[in-house]
Amino acid sequence: MTEEQAGGAGRALHPDTRAVRGGRGASHPALAPVVWASSTFVSASVDEAQAAATSIGNDRFYSRYGNPTVTDFEQAVADLEGAEAARAFGSGMGAVTAVILGLCSQGDHVVAARHLYAGTQLVLQAVCPRFGIDVTFVDGTDPGAFAAAVRPGKTMLVWAETPANPRLDLVDLDAVGAIAGPMTVVDSTFATPLGQRPLDHGVDIVVHSATKAMAGHNDATLGVVAASAELITWLTGFAVLQGATASPYDAANGLRGLRTLPVRFARQSATALELARWLEEDGRVTEVRHPGLESHPQHELARRQMRELGGLVCFDLPGGIDAGRRFVEAVELAQLASSLGGPETLVTHPASTTHVNLLPEELAAVGIGPGTIRVSVGLEHPEDLRADLDRALGAATGS
Ligand SMILES: *Cc1c(COP(=O)(O)O)cnc(C)c1O
Repeated sequence: MTEEQAGGAGRALHPDTRAVRGGRGASHPALAPVVWASSTFVSASVDEAQAAATSIGNDRFYSRYGNPTVTDFEQAVADLEGAEAARAFGSGMGAVTAVILGLCSQGDHVVAARHLYAGTQLVLQAVCPRFGIDVTFVDGTDPGAFAAAVRPGKTMLVWAETPANPRLDLVDLDAVGAIAGPMTVVDSTFATPLGQRPLDHGVDIVVHSATKAMAGHNDATLGVVAASAELITWLTGFAVLQGATASPYDAANGLRGLRTLPVRFARQSATALELARWLEEDGRVTEVRHPGLESHPQHELARRQMRELGGLVCFDLPGGIDAGRRFVEAVELAQLASSLGGPETLVTHPASTTHVNLLPEELAAVGIGPGTIRVSVGLEHPEDLRADLDRALGAATGS
């Protein structure tokens, strides 16, 4: 920890302050992030070029290896996650595939939660077997399920996502962190570093799609992994060859997003809980889900391991597919789009869009019903959002 991060006199700074102050080394003395657009850098001598080419993650050699703007974003994320180091990627999926394919080899075994981001789930289910990597899917809400599926000497990775898409099921971070042997990974995208810190629970690796709330303005496609310096060095060696490199423009937008993440995330979490409470009372929908609702089956766990509970709300419309379609077309303030964590409130109806090719029983297995709606609550005034959802519920349910 530098003197700056420690806030002087050894006093640890609050996460909100660290989000504002972190990742400024390469931009100093500019206050806003400087975009180092250069794809390559001039060396003063052969010895210097050779040292750069053979060091890991050098950010003054060639931008696929490292880039100063990207380094600043990585350092800001490492600081927020309480990690020794971080590596940014060109997308969340770039980060996900680097961790899985960079750490697993033919003959290795992975234990993963069943409730995962669809892209991650497809990599584990369809790509891993092609490389001889065996995957066992377990119920992530059962704290003992991961450990029970570990094959000693064979399991290389344990993969969890919490809160998980779309029903906001949680994974017990202490239970995952306590697993000995394999490396443990948590996709913490829905929580952001402000909502929870998996590494504090003994988890080895935290993964984010920074495309979502971290960059936070729907103008960057960006991923990041935070872990020990040793693991990040290894992953960087793979990432340089994988080529899912973070753009300096996106990294600058990532840094810009981190500066305001604490206030954005707190506001979205508060509005989401307010809307969830109203929906639960309303009676036109069933099974409202938000980790802050007392009715969430893991509400106590959420209170224990999360600092902020997030801006996503999920609920079911009793009228099935048709009601779901009517709802997402009837909203006027909220918009139909697949992402989350930005300023604009977005709605998705998985059964008619992202998951349209699944059979009813396959939908049920991933927690999606025909009338399931996911709302990513933005920064609009809560009363305006409530009025919009109220009107759309009327159109969808005829009441
Ligand atoms: C969006 C998302 C990803 C993938 O990130 P991209 O930036 O879209 O590649 C991975 N995990 C979760 C939980 C996500 O929401």
